[in-house]
Amino acid sequence: MLPASNAYDFPLLIKHLLTNASRAHARQEIVSHPNTRLSYETFERRVHQLAHSLNNCGIEDAMRVGVMDWDSNRYLECFFAVPMMGATLFTINVRLSPAQLLYTINHGAPDLIIVHRDFMPLIDEIKSGFERDITIIPIGDGDGYEAWIGKAADRFDFPDFEEARTATLFYTTGTTGNPKGVSYSHRQLVLHTLGLLVGFGVWPGDAGFHRGDVYMPLTPLFHVHGWGFPYAATMLGVKQVYSGRYDPDSLLRLIADEGVTFSHCVPTILSMLLERPSAAHIDLNRWKVIIGGAALPRGLQDRAAEAGICLHAAYGMSETCPFLTVADLSSDDPQIQAQTGFAGPLIDLRVVTPDMEDVPHDGEAIGEVVARAPWLTQAYLDNAQASDALWSGGYLHTGDVGYMREDGSVQITDRLKDVIKTGGEWVSSLALENIASSCNGIEDVAAIGMPHEKWGERPVLLAQAAKGANLEDLRTSVLRAVQSQVDAGALSKWAMPDLLLFVDQLPKTSVGKLDKKQMREDVLKYSDIKS
Ligand code: AMP
Repeated sequence: MLPASNAYDFPLLIKHLLTNASRAHARQEIVSHPNTRLSYETFERRVHQLAHSLNNCGIEDAMRVGVMDWDSNRYLECFFAVPMMGATLFTINVRLSPAQLLYTINHGAPDLIIVHRDFMPLIDEIKSGFERDITIIPIGDGDGYEAWIGKAADRFDFPDFEEARTATLFYTTGTTGNPKGVSYSHRQLVLHTLGLLVGFGVWPGDAGFHRGDVYMPLTPLFHVHGWGFPYAATMLGVKQVYSGRYDPDSLLRLIADEGVTFSHCVPTILSMLLERPSAAHIDLNRWKVIIGGAALPRGLQDRAAEAGICLHAAYGMSETCPFLTVADLSSDDPQIQAQTGFAGPLIDLRVVTPDMEDVPHDGEAIGEVVARAPWLTQAYLDNAQASDALWSGGYLHTGDVGYMREDGSVQITDRLKDVIKTGGEWVSSLALENIASSCNGIEDVAAIGMPHEKWGERPVLLAQAAKGANLEDLRTSVLRAVQSQVDAGALSKWAMPDLLLFVDQLPKTSVGKLDKKQMREDVLKYSDIKS
């Protein structure tokens, strides 16, 4: 059947996510700390004004626009205006070291960068190393942005173009080698938005993400476009809250004052909030939090439960947009809430041997998690070798090790490179961390494999202790907890750590995850455990 000559082909473009937003959600607000409240209608007008302002600065089709700003309504406006013009939104990781930042800017080659006042010193430090002319738009504390877009016309004619056009670009935060450029097309982001809304929305009752929620991201918008939720929240038309610079006390105040009910973050951020004395005075009973980016440690789960928070795990990575799996959101069983979970719609997730055979789905057999989905990055920017390795055998390789249960839910047990290979066995660093994190007095903990002449590697635990803890007692209780799991047969005897070191602060990556590469270097410097 031939389509009618005048039929509209409907390319999946980001502009279509806004089709009903301002009409259908007239009463909802987009709040940006400290002093901005916008209706959806005003938000949409500002998206048009931003596009005009960019256009006046020479930005056209297929150019790249970088952003260095705190989470704000301005950032959300860029999420829409830039790709809707046909340009690429480059969300710049402002927490990289100056050298890595310069690397990503030269590699990502933006034509213009919008820069908040707080990041101008960084730009001043590295700009002599820029390999191309880049227009810098300094926006002060936001006042400069208002002046810049304020007088622009409020109707921009956002064109149609092919849905495969690149919409976004950012860089991985991996701890090895240079960051790698990851990009997504309009089609991928639209499908990911719908996938998120199905994957997180289909649960009974209040469990999932739905129209009644008030949304506040706690993963920075530069990292995997805030896990894609800002697009989903805008399409859904919920009240949204953007927090500006992350300050634990003001985040807690925002949750209370704005009635936030749905957030997502890496474990470190939630841990940081729960450590604040002010957390004890805030009612967190309506707050649903999705933990991703790292496994959900049992100790954190217990602390969150005490505070009344409804906590669940989800799983994905920079290269997967990021959504791959989510735990059963309707469950209040802590074991199930912490599961890596079920693959979202359209996602073909497998656990395979090195020659791509599926392992048995018995909740035990371990393999690498590989995936196909409509929203997986197709290649790293200008890095054919790494792209081919990522897609070896036609599936995207996550580099994560895990197993699949009979019901199809998966469990990540480790990063391939973090598994502790000792005495011919694989010991899961996550399993050790989980046990240690449930011991009273442990605030944060990491298990790493250190090289050992005889056994290949041996496990070492690094931990942050709560203030005032007796370190010797704490060491005894952690080691005893691990030993009891070994005695019960839940862990192999090889899992018993050789060392438990207490540190003031565990090293973290630019997005707040445990930096195990740094830890291995630190431990090597600190002690000779090779014998
Ligand atoms: P990134 O690309 O920085 O977002 O990191 C993605 C990686 O974080 C994944 O490949 C996993 O190793 C880890 N990760 C994300 N979610 C989970 C989870 N629910 N459980 C365990 N590890 C996770």
